[in-house]
Amino acid sequence: MALKLFNTLTRSVQEFAPLDPAGKKVGMYCCGPTVYDFAHIGNWRTFVFADFVRRTLEFSGYDVQHVMNITDVEDKIIKRVRENKTTLRDFTGKYETAFLDDLKALGCREPHQKPCATDHIPEIIALIEKLVTRGVAYQASDGSVYFSIEKYRGCGCHYGQLLKLNLDELRTGERVAADEYEKESVADFALWKARVPDDGDVFWPSPFGEGRPGWHIECSAMSIKALGETFDLHLGGEDLKFPHHEDEIAQSEGATGKPFVKFWLHGAHLLVEGKKMSKSLGNFFTLRDLLAKGFTGREVRYLLLTAHYRETFNFTIDGLHGAKSALARIDECVGKLRELAESPKSKIQNPKPEAALIDRFTAALADDLNISAAWAAVFEWVREINKRLADSSLSAGDAGAALAAWEKVESVLGIGVKADAEIPAEITALAEERTAAKKAKDFKRSDVIRDELKAKGWVIEDTPKGIKLKKI
Ligand code: AMP
Ligand code: ZN
Repeated sequence: MALKLFNTLTRSVQEFAPLDPAGKKVGMYCCGPTVYDFAHIGNWRTFVFADFVRRTLEFSGYDVQHVMNITDVEDKIIKRVRENKTTLRDFTGKYETAFLDDLKALGCREPHQKPCATDHIPEIIALIEKLVTRGVAYQASDGSVYFSIEKYRGCGCHYGQLLKLNLDELRTGERVAADEYEKESVADFALWKARVPDDGDVFWPSPFGEGRPGWHIECSAMSIKALGETFDLHLGGEDLKFPHHEDEIAQSEGATGKPFVKFWLHGAHLLVEGKKMSKSLGNFFTLRDLLAKGFTGREVRYLLLTAHYRETFNFTIDGLHGAKSALARIDECVGKLRELAESPKSKIQNPKPEAALIDRFTAALADDLNISAAWAAVFEWVREINKRLADSSLSAGDAGAALAAWEKVESVLGIGVKADAEIPAEITALAEERTAAKKAKDFKRSDVIRDELKAKGWVIEDTPKGIKLKKI
């Protein structure tokens, strides 16, 4: 079934087809984190979305090359390096490591390439030189190099591909030096920023003098190097449409004369408890804050994946409690299926995945990643399986086929399996004491221990293979 996605470039839902003539390889670039702090839950909505897109493409049979850059030099980072009286590497290294740990905790597949801007200074300089040679960039009197929107448009190129801009009011040659600015102040933007005292030790030599790259050119240089001058898919949060992605298009197309990206996908923003996240409102969460509250990475991932990517999502702590129960329902059902399918007497080798769940799930994803329909398919399947388990109408073969289907679906959802709770030594000792009591036919004592275990949050089950301890 053909996958349809909303392409910001055409403002329409289009059938996805890669540039590869064999229709197999897909190049996908997602703007990565700016490593100046721990990533917050809004950032994670975007990165989990990128992982979900990649997994959907892989599920659809594509061979994906997933690139996610690390922005390790830009305005905000330099400000923090200065405030913290540290070095760029020490400062960004800490947050990069934390980011990659969190990425794993959220069950995201590791991108195939994770280029850092500071490792690509020669490529960035070469790209700027190309733009200067082509006459669409110039060095200003402050020593910085800017992209000329007027010259670019004069070559017949289109500035404002991702959103409508009022370029009639554009004052020729007006410049913006900051990495981030509003669309009302669209102007020539900085490609190379001449060294100033506030930059401290953060500068590199270049043919334009000492300085550092602007944020936008970093992504053009790294994406072109990793995926070529034209590639399939570019993702990011909706706030990046302007100026970051618009400037990426201008720089890349201005340098190569070729279309930069075929499909642009933008994820909508996340609110927390109905409001824009802010530290002063107390609704600002990093993943670490949520883990410290006792939630798990898979619960956070589940919740982030409950809303359609183009809808603003309201993240709440209540929602996380809901995620816990929803996952428990799935875990219980899949656990029972596994027991039945893998019972040594009736285990079937390589069962054929049951088609019904996969077909519904695939159709939902193909419809511009309709995640609500995808979860509806999953929960209806859980209900049906539970019914069949309860009336014993499911054979081991059926259970194997259902499980094989679930594994395919799970390869997209990425919620994994519940980690076995570590059993404290005290609980194991009590369980052993209960087994000994039962052996000695001291059933009164064994019942007392069972109650004691329950009070401590554990249930003990007697199975043909021995006892099993489960956290309540
Ligand atoms: P940054 O590290 O600031 O460059 O942001 C990393 C990614 O997070 C970008 O793709 C942003 O668009 C995205 N992002 C930032 N804030 C939010 C939010 N509140 N909701 C969803 N995505 C966000
Ligand atoms: Zn970028």
